[in-house]
Amino acid sequence: SKTTAEQQESAEDSNYNGLTGNLYSDRYKAILKKRRELPVNKQRQKFLDLVHSNQFVVLVGETGSGKTTQIPQYMLLDLLPHTEGKMIACTQPRRVAAMSVAQRVSEELDVKLGQEVGYSIRFEDCTSSKTMLKYCTDGMLLREAMSDNLLSRYSAIILDEAHERTLNTDILMSLVKSIAAKRSDIKIVVMSATLDSEKFQKYFYDAPLLTVPGRTFPVEVYYTPEPERDYLEAAIKTALQIHATEPEGDILVFLTGEEEIEEACKLLRARGDELIRRAGCGPLHIVPLYSTLPPSMQQKIFDKAPEPLTKGGKPGRKIVVSTNIAETSLTIDGIVYVIDPGFSKQKVYNPRVRVESLLVSPISRAAAQQRAGRAGRTRPGKCFRLYTEKSFNNDLIEQTYPEILRSNLGSIVLQLKKLGVNDLVHLDLMDPCAPEVLMRALELLHYLGALDDDANLTPIGHMISEFPIDPQLAKMIISSADYGCTNEVLSVAAMLSVPNVFLRPREAQRAADLAKADFAHMDGDHMTLLNVYHAYKGSSKPDQWCWDNFLQYRSLKSADNIREQLRRVATRCELPLVSNDFTSPDYYPNIRRALTAGYFMQVAHLERNGQYLTVKDNQIVLLHPSSVLERKPEWVVYNEFVLTKRHYIRTVTEVRPEWLLEIAPHYYDLPSFPPCEGRRILEKIALRMMATQELKAKKAKKDKKRKS
Ligand code: ADP
Ligand code: MG
Repeated sequence: SKTTAEQQESAEDSNYNGLTGNLYSDRYKAILKKRRELPVNKQRQKFLDLVHSNQFVVLVGETGSGKTTQIPQYMLLDLLPHTEGKMIACTQPRRVAAMSVAQRVSEELDVKLGQEVGYSIRFEDCTSSKTMLKYCTDGMLLREAMSDNLLSRYSAIILDEAHERTLNTDILMSLVKSIAAKRSDIKIVVMSATLDSEKFQKYFYDAPLLTVPGRTFPVEVYYTPEPERDYLEAAIKTALQIHATEPEGDILVFLTGEEEIEEACKLLRARGDELIRRAGCGPLHIVPLYSTLPPSMQQKIFDKAPEPLTKGGKPGRKIVVSTNIAETSLTIDGIVYVIDPGFSKQKVYNPRVRVESLLVSPISRAAAQQRAGRAGRTRPGKCFRLYTEKSFNNDLIEQTYPEILRSNLGSIVLQLKKLGVNDLVHLDLMDPCAPEVLMRALELLHYLGALDDDANLTPIGHMISEFPIDPQLAKMIISSADYGCTNEVLSVAAMLSVPNVFLRPREAQRAADLAKADFAHMDGDHMTLLNVYHAYKGSSKPDQWCWDNFLQYRSLKSADNIREQLRRVATRCELPLVSNDFTSPDYYPNIRRALTAGYFMQVAHLERNGQYLTVKDNQIVLLHPSSVLERKPEWVVYNEFVLTKRHYIRTVTEVRPEWLLEIAPHYYDLPSFPPCEGRRILEKIALRMMATQELKAKKAKKDKKRKS
């Protein structure tokens, strides 16, 4: 069925919803009017022509032109995938975008979210058997490909936000290329917000390009004359100044993460109130936006600015304080002022020390331009860059490096192996990954026992790949079966998969610390998390209980949900769901043994000089101040390496050195260690263990002789 734009429009103009058979609502008609004005709609026929005569199409259009919301709908009307029991997938690098856009498109199509239109993100599947259009994170589609190598459930794949060049999108691009070679019926559309489309075209066999002309207004850019020392403070000041002096129009502030954003919102509210009282400014509506915010809160960014306090009074204003999400993934209409401090949280990977971290880093010039563009959506706008013009020209890099060049590839390599992609070096990638990074990934998987000596997936590797989490974390769960503590380790894993649960508001730090001390476990932070989880499950009014104990209710609820999903995977892998007797002296040690089985590569040793050194890499690290371990145990495993001016290890638990040698002898191959105190101590312990073993063997022999 090949449709024309005219046919599609007349279907949309009908009184009845073709998808449900229901009468269209008034709301539908109102939204339809707006949809028709979007720039992509003027290109609908051209787009359909290209799709009809090509397997791959590259589409480039300014943010807000209607790519994400409209193109999948055009494909839906054109392909009618549900008549063949299929679907259309549209991928997003960000969870929030997938959720939010699915919500919007379900409204545009006048259907219930989760029915005909749904979304799928890690740990949350909001689709049904009726779903024909699915928005999903790129990671989820990749995961799906592991069990359905040809993505046979889909008649079209739309890869959105391809310019972001996330690791998952890069791999997906290579994957859909090979799928398309085997499936002439599948259509692939690659969408991007920036104009460097040539690379995409070339990669997809010189695919045709459709450019959607933007509908943007000029944006005036202002720089600070001097570098700002405290960009958070500068951003808040600038926002309030705009509110006090500039004409009507909403403000978008780019910050780097949840904590910073919440802090900024609090300060903006407090100082804003004062401004309203003292200077008679209009009311402010301040909304945060970051990925871990619950969906209902995320929708608030689309609220209208508040009305003036009195009739004819000064206009109200909305201030959205957001992470990078608002850069290209989500369009917020009504933004006239953008404040850009020039930073974002970016993944950084150092293969030499095997550390991947999120680091607040300067953005690229391309990103800065995108940010500025957000001010010109509805009328001419202003962008305030909180850095100097010289810095923009000399310090910012042109483009952000693709994520594949700065990630730990462990998880992806495992997924590719599962997909049957063995020759990773020659994988057809847009930018090949660095050989050293690839080597590190293979090494990690080998140490975890996921790959054998010929780099083939082992049974454990198959199991690890079933879990939608880091390989180490999955290995920890799988090993816990050997130690009789899967129940507890599933809880620990779930707690490690959610944002920080401990709240520490500035005005109540002491009270918060005291509350946390109640949960503190002698052995360390992982066990403390387990205590929190158990106490949460035992509370009768969990939301109030969390509030009283300075805990993030949202995170705990989410941990509970994640635990359930991990439990299901564990059951599928036929792992027994067991606990040790709580009074057994091995109750906690066994949980820590399982922890060691996953994280033996993330161990630090306390040197005699009072410094921790990471094992093998010999990096100097400090216990993160949030750790409950004040007594500095000699050997610890850590969950995270935090790169700041100093190096911290966060979420830390004590382990016994014997376990390292017993559980991961292939990694603790001591001759390969650099000479250091840790090595010498382990060598002594190894000798002692060997002697004990010999003694045991001798005794066993004697006993045997005596018996016979
Ligand atoms: P693109 O993908 O090209 O950046 P989108 O398809 O995301 O553009 O958005 C197109 C338009 O749809 C936006 O400019 C906005 O007007 C509208 N829109 C999108 N999401 C919402 C929403 N949740 N609420 C209201 N309007 C929305
Ligand atoms: Mg989009």
